[in-house]
Amino acid sequence: MRVNCEGCAGCCVDWRALSATPDDHERVGPDRPLDDVYNLVPLTRDEVRAFVDAGYGDALTPRVWAHDVDGETDAGSDETGDGREDDGGRSVRVDGFDVAAVAGRPAFFVGLRKPPKPVAPVGVDDAHWLPTCAFLDPESLQCRIHGDDLYPDECATYPGRNLLLDVETGCERVEAEFGAPGDRLVEDAVPDDADPLLGPQAVGGKVFAHPDPAALSGRVERIAAGEPTAADRAEFVATAAGASPGTVRRNDDAYREYRERALDADSWVGQAIDDWTDRADRDPPDPGLGEAVEDDRGAPGTPGWD
Ligand code: SF4
Ligand code: SF4
Repeated sequence: MRVNCEGCAGCCVDWRALSATPDDHERVGPDRPLDDVYNLVPLTRDEVRAFVDAGYGDALTPRVWAHDVDGETDAGSDETGDGREDDGGRSVRVDGFDVAAVAGRPAFFVGLRKPPKPVAPVGVDDAHWLPTCAFLDPESLQCRIHGDDLYPDECATYPGRNLLLDVETGCERVEAEFGAPGDRLVEDAVPDDADPLLGPQAVGGKVFAHPDPAALSGRVERIAAGEPTAADRAEFVATAAGASPGTVRRNDDAYREYRERALDADSWVGQAIDDWTDRADRDPPDPGLGEAVEDDRGAPGTPGWD
């Protein structure tokens, strides 16, 4: 597998606003994200811990899904007590949503936040305010943690998992709209280390389960509105940090410890997200703003393409 990423960032930026045929590959099937984020990068339990330990608890955000009860349930009696058919614990009603669940516990991912940034991705000439990974340098369109210990496996191996599963890659979607075959996905052999991380081993490793649906009241509604609070995000982040891979159990000591750390986070990322959000409403989209908004707050630099 070889990719040509210069000037692209198609997997780091939500470029649907630039597309004549916006793709929504994350919203197919019976479980659909309640948020509107594009290409969320799902982190493993250990990666969640590493980000929080590094002071980046404020860079993380959860994803929960609405479960299509009608499409998936076995026809049967109402045994859930809330007017719904029993679906074997595959969903739980929270804030009026049938939230996808594992064994009756609300399921979720933890990914990286995507504030609006002034970027010119996928080879376009003009910059636009587009939802962009918190760690992407808007000027170079390079990842600020590339090669770092924190660099997520999902990013390091992209698009190997797609090639393994024979699913269209983001590189090919970019080629289809802004180039030609082979412009971005230069060589499409499946890498030896491509790992689908599907099945039971994903639970507690990358797909997490919250033990107390009642504790999510109000939080799910705010996630669906795209407005989770810092406390909402910390609740999910800490539960993921306290997960036990292969099970739905949560280590409550680890949960409490990581919840405090996530709430205490005050990194350049969190500060920049607030600043970007304010500027998107008032400033022209100039990628050079990244210097004042991110670099001057301590963001790691990027090497450029030369
Ligand atoms: S979509 Fe493909 S070519 Fe574009 S930045 Fe991502 S990996 Fe690179
Ligand atoms: S962590 Fe880096 S490579 Fe991954 S989505 Fe964010 S900017 Fe892109």
